[in-house]
Amino acid sequence: MSATSHNYINRSRKRSAVDFQFYECIGEGSYSKVYRAISIHNHRTYAVKILSKSHIQRENKRKYVNIEKDTLNILGKHPGIVTLYYTFQDDKSLYFVIDFAKNGELLSLIRKLGSLSENLSKYYMTQLIDALDFIHSKGIIHRDMKPENILLNHEWKLMITDFGAAKVLSEEELRLLRQDNKQINGYNNYNYNMESGKSSSSSTRTGSFVGTAEYVSPELLKYNMCGFECDLWAVGCILFQLIVGRPPFKGATEYLTFEKIIALDYKFPDNYYISPMIQDIIRNLLILKPNNRYKIVDLQVHPWFKDVNWTNKESIWKAKVP
Ligand code: ATP
Repeated sequence: MSATSHNYINRSRKRSAVDFQFYECIGEGSYSKVYRAISIHNHRTYAVKILSKSHIQRENKRKYVNIEKDTLNILGKHPGIVTLYYTFQDDKSLYFVIDFAKNGELLSLIRKLGSLSENLSKYYMTQLIDALDFIHSKGIIHRDMKPENILLNHEWKLMITDFGAAKVLSEEELRLLRQDNKQINGYNNYNYNMESGKSSSSSTRTGSFVGTAEYVSPELLKYNMCGFECDLWAVGCILFQLIVGRPPFKGATEYLTFEKIIALDYKFPDNYYISPMIQDIIRNLLILKPNNRYKIVDLQVHPWFKDVNWTNKESIWKAKVP
């Protein structure tokens, strides 16, 4: 094939805004707007995230935008993770064309229902664990797992999103984490200072960004270190929230939330029943020392998941919502 025809093929595949019909705005981030859009070619519905270049520049967010794009490209296609189909740009904006999550955020579902039944919680936990296992197998730590970052598609199946805080581990870092059981330097968005007893909003720090305090792991707060275990801490917080309707650690201020986290100050409500198996999982995920915390394999062999066949991906991702 000649160089010219090769270039021609590549150019013809490249998408731009004219390849989509844009509809309503379905959400807004701190430097982005997300629209529902339909491809004029395959008539499929997508979500198109439009990021303002000037805003990214002004707020120094280029790094996070690149991390999100690179991570989604590494992850490729998995039913439990939003797929990034195309990226393109014009003078003012960057465009990310991703899977459309018709049913919004898992957080909205929790708020609507108050809390989820054990069955529904298990349905989502199974998908979450399988997707997280895949993310970790690619040497990626998500680092911002929370119900706002878990979207629901048209069949109410979950898709993990928002990889702007993710860490793609180098070979050397992977060796440290997997073989030597060490942690790597995490960046503590929350700027929690144990000595001064103060916390400042991350928005005031250059190069960092605002996050939700409730799901941050104690090792990140205390030592600014993290590994795959920090995602499992967040899974513990999410399971608690599915069952109880609120996260386990929530103080009146961000600082008080951090104090609760490092003191492991949470309690199951005593006004309603939570099965001992679920309590057992939560207790084993919400463990201060990352090395003693449940890993994905420990969850997979837990009796609560005894009816789940983890090797049969079809059965996980084709299961009907209870
Ligand atoms: P921030 O950048 O401030 O952390 P964010 O990460 O939520 O916010 P976006 O990823 O731009 O920012 O998402 C903005 C909103 O759009 C989200 O709250 C979500 O509800 C909605 N949204 C994002 N992605 C999708 C999608 N693929 N399908 C449907 N809705 C989406």
